[in-house]
Amino acid sequence: MDNSEQLNQAKVELKALKEENAQLRKQLTAALQGKNVSESPLVLNETHESLIAKEQSYRTLLLNLPGMVYRCKNDKNWTMVLLNDGVTALTAYPKNDFLEGRVFYSSLIHPEDRKKVWDDIQSSLAENQAFELSYRIIDAFGKLRWVWERGRRITDVVTGNTYLEGLILDITSQKNSELQIERSELKFRTFFNQIRDAIFVFPILPDRFGTFEEINHIALNLLAYSAEEMATMSFTDICPDVVALENWSRKLGNKNPLVFECRLRAKDGSFTDCEISAQIFIQDEQKMIIAVARDIRDRKRQLEQLRLAMEKAKEADRLKSAFLSNISHEIRTPLNSIIGFSDVLEKGDFDPDSMKEFASIIKNSGHMLLSVVTDIVEIAQIESKQININNERLSILDLLLEVMTAFQPLAKKKGIKLISQIPTDIPDFFSDPFYVRKIIDHLLANAIKYTTEGSVHLSCSTENNKVLINVSDTGPGIESKDRANIFELFYRATNNVNITHSGTGLGLSISRGLARLMGGDLYYVPLEPNGSEFVLVLPFDELKLNPSDMSLENNSDPSKKSRILIADDLEVNFVYLKELVRSLNAEIVHAWNGQEVVDVIGKMDFDLILMDVRMPVLNGIDALKQVKQNKPDLPVIVQTAYASEGEGQKYLDMGFDGFLAKPVRRNQLLQEIGRFIS
Ligand code: ADP
Repeated sequence: MDNSEQLNQAKVELKALKEENAQLRKQLTAALQGKNVSESPLVLNETHESLIAKEQSYRTLLLNLPGMVYRCKNDKNWTMVLLNDGVTALTAYPKNDFLEGRVFYSSLIHPEDRKKVWDDIQSSLAENQAFELSYRIIDAFGKLRWVWERGRRITDVVTGNTYLEGLILDITSQKNSELQIERSELKFRTFFNQIRDAIFVFPILPDRFGTFEEINHIALNLLAYSAEEMATMSFTDICPDVVALENWSRKLGNKNPLVFECRLRAKDGSFTDCEISAQIFIQDEQKMIIAVARDIRDRKRQLEQLRLAMEKAKEADRLKSAFLSNISHEIRTPLNSIIGFSDVLEKGDFDPDSMKEFASIIKNSGHMLLSVVTDIVEIAQIESKQININNERLSILDLLLEVMTAFQPLAKKKGIKLISQIPTDIPDFFSDPFYVRKIIDHLLANAIKYTTEGSVHLSCSTENNKVLINVSDTGPGIESKDRANIFELFYRATNNVNITHSGTGLGLSISRGLARLMGGDLYYVPLEPNGSEFVLVLPFDELKLNPSDMSLENNSDPSKKSRILIADDLEVNFVYLKELVRSLNAEIVHAWNGQEVVDVIGKMDFDLILMDVRMPVLNGIDALKQVKQNKPDLPVIVQTAYASEGEGQKYLDMGFDGFLAKPVRRNQLLQEIGRFIS
């Protein structure tokens, strides 16, 4: 080859080199700047030497690029025609394995990503666009790597063939941290929305709280706003009683969260008691607050219940102590009188008037004692629901007139007027006369007891199937702090209880317990300017009245006088029973023990014996055996404090003809007697 031929050859080579150089520059610029090559055409106007120098520096640059620079065919194998050494760093295969067809780049692409890589590139090429994508490859050691690729289609100016050229970078570590961020973001989201407390995230601006940036589902549910609505609101909109902003910021300054209680307002204006735990954090140099709000309504309710239970327990304890001291006083006082005056009577020789007076004191004390014991037994029976209500025809008119007559002397003695207002046409109804009387007696006794001047009124009316019996007085009334408690066991109001007002604090509890057992109730109404009113409400159903249901007393024939033997070793019991049967107009004989029963029935005829069980000399059960031997037809009714009514059968099996549990009630007693005496 002569010189001119060599020169031409060199010129051709230089031209090719120039073109290749230009292409490479474009590729590099495009790859590194992400620009489309066609948008930035380069104008070459350089000398041969400078071009060679640049060419070398481009090659060096290409070799030193952190990634893999390639030119490949647009075929399914991505057959490589030009590669830099970065391919080995990326794939762990020697460059020549690709260039000589031993390894195809397509086989390195993760099988799950292979199709997508092909499709994405082809669709970009179809639009004559550069392509950019990330996917996974598996290197020569089987290690998975994430890669980022950017490339484009080029046409070889010499051969006219089209190729793809581009850069592939290893982005595994960046991708891993992205994945890690995604995972922790997911964790955070799940936690944020799963947590059972409401969460609010918002910035602290210099003069106010910023609008909410994050709110979880619980917060939306709690306040019934939509996410869009809440995004325009701030914490002050939902927490009107929030502490001032400066306070918050100051208190939030330290590391511990600020915990306080407040009410959050829902969209419908309702409030929820919440405990807020607020903490400051910095996000993009902005001070932010994360406030966690816990609904504490249940906790507050429980606390309130606990507080009430505690108060009740304390009150019960106080009442128990008060009762013990009270009851011991109530029992000791009459007992002291009984023992004291019995002693006096035993030792001295007194004129009949003094003896009568002492005996009367002893008797009254006995009655007092009995009433205390009866109250206690009764309250126990009410509480254990052992009281049987015997509904029968009740003439409330008669009953109230009787009561008025009975209490007039007491009222007169105290200088108080006892006034009644009872409609004479008030119809009879069904109820338990014994207990109705007991309640009214108690209310009247209290009214007279606590009233020092003025009057006591008793009235009666009907209203909506109810009978209302009102007992009012002009006494001191009951202070508002005591009103809720006067029906509690043993409770005695402080303002009006003094030494002259003896009592156990059981009467109103018993009365209300009985009223309720009868299907009614008992209420207290304070009167102005002073005074009290108690209203006994009883169910009233006139239609159910049965005219044939007449009481025993009405049936009894007063012309026939029966004889009843009462056997009891305690005189109070005897006097009490005698009192109860007084209306029968029967002749009553007292036996102090079983032996006296046996003796007396040999001498006299009786229609009935009321027999106590526990008696000295001969007890009631042994006495019964002898009675039944001598007078098998003589009915014997046992009365005992040692068994409940349910255990009556035991006594009937022994041979008794009837059974009465102590304290004996007039009604029951008359009913029981009515079975044997007409
Ligand atoms: P007590 O045996 O003490 O009278 P109660 O249960 O009948 O017991 O009454 C409870 C308390 O209610 C009394 O101690 C008294 O303080 C108050 N109370 C009851 N009735 C009246 C009344 N008519 N006027 C003023 N206080 C009353």
